[in-house]
Amino acid sequence: MKISCGMTRDLLPLYLDGICGDESKAAVEEHLLECGKCRDELNAMKEAFLVNNYDSNMTEAETVQELSKKWKSSIRKHVIRGVLITIAVLAVLCIFFEFAFVQV
Ligand SMILES: [Zn+2]
Repeated sequence: MKISCGMTRDLLPLYLDGICGDESKAAVEEHLLECGKCRDELNAMKEAFLVNNYDSNMTEAETVQELSKKWKSSIRKHVIRGVLITIAVLAVLCIFFEFAFVQV
């Protein structure tokens, strides 16, 4: 089925996302074989798609890195707090046993 440039350009976003039906996909591919302008349009859309996804992926990567830093910092604080609490408990136990042995 032959379709016009206008119909092809309407379908290109769906074609690029891979969500158009088999019949539309075949019609777009048939048109792209014959029409350089629509191929250029598709290539421009692909480049824009890659650039947009790159920005989106970089934002996500930066967010993950920031969360990772916060998580590592939080773990460090909890480990230090745990060590200090353990030392305090041991000191209290030592003092308790010291007094217990002194009184016996
Ligand atoms: Zn065309």
